[in-house]
Amino acid sequence: MTAADGGTGPAGPERGPVAPGSGWPDDPATPATPVAHDAAGVRALAAGAGGMTELAARQSVCRACPRLVEWREQVAVVRRRSYAGERYWGRPVPGWGDEHPRVLVLGLAPAAHGGNRTGRIFTGDRSGDVLFASLYRCGLASQPTSVSAADGQQLVGTRIAAAVRCAPPANKPAPAERETCAPWLSAEFALAMPDLAVVVCLGAFAWQALWPVLRGAGFAGTRPRPAFGHGAEVLARFPDGEPAGQQLRILGCYHPSQQNTFTGRVTPAMLDGVFGRAAQLAGLGPGPAAA
Ligand code: SF4
Repeated sequence: MTAADGGTGPAGPERGPVAPGSGWPDDPATPATPVAHDAAGVRALAAGAGGMTELAARQSVCRACPRLVEWREQVAVVRRRSYAGERYWGRPVPGWGDEHPRVLVLGLAPAAHGGNRTGRIFTGDRSGDVLFASLYRCGLASQPTSVSAADGQQLVGTRIAAAVRCAPPANKPAPAERETCAPWLSAEFALAMPDLAVVVCLGAFAWQALWPVLRGAGFAGTRPRPAFGHGAEVLARFPDGEPAGQQLRILGCYHPSQQNTFTGRVTPAMLDGVFGRAAQLAGLGPGPAAA
């Protein structure tokens, strides 16, 4: 399929991607938001963002990875038949939630017909259904479901971000794409750091992506990288070598992918165990009662 010929998908009212500042709910960007066109652009614009809103805006218009830009926009044009009547976002999915989070939830990348459709991370797909239900039970989200950017859902002391912001083909970003996108995460982490108590990594890829960010920020306890596992818990200290400094807990959690939930590799109770622990560590929500 190609964006140029409109693909072979079903007809519908409008086809994405959505223009910045054109009225999409919670669109952080405007037509004036600067656009990164390559890795150097990502580094410069990520480092220069003055706050979470500006950073999210810049993330949401990025065009630095040609393969991913083409894919996300093609998907937004062709669409899945079951969403034929919907406009797709078709842009990078920025970090979303509390601007001063106590808990940061880190995933891999948006889903082609989930975040890439709704414009909000983990929103509108089965992984998100399972994730948000657990966040709600643990006091970290205001509603048990997250279906669209206009559904009124709010996170409580929590922010969700993806290590790679564009939906990749087969859910597999290339190593160079991960590297190019990494400065967006480093900048988001740096802005969140003063208030942050816990990072929950959903899956081994998110776990891998976090450690260079921690090392770059000056945290101790990060080398060598601890092994990922469900329920893994690591204490990182900042600054490196200063036991009295800020402490950050890193929690591992199996990704609530369809495959993992269908096979029972991860269950709602297992997610509640991790997010209940995160809420407890962060002083949010019902904490252990949810676990
Ligand atoms: S994956 Fe990241 S760096 Fe690449 S185009 Fe998307 S937002 Fe930009």
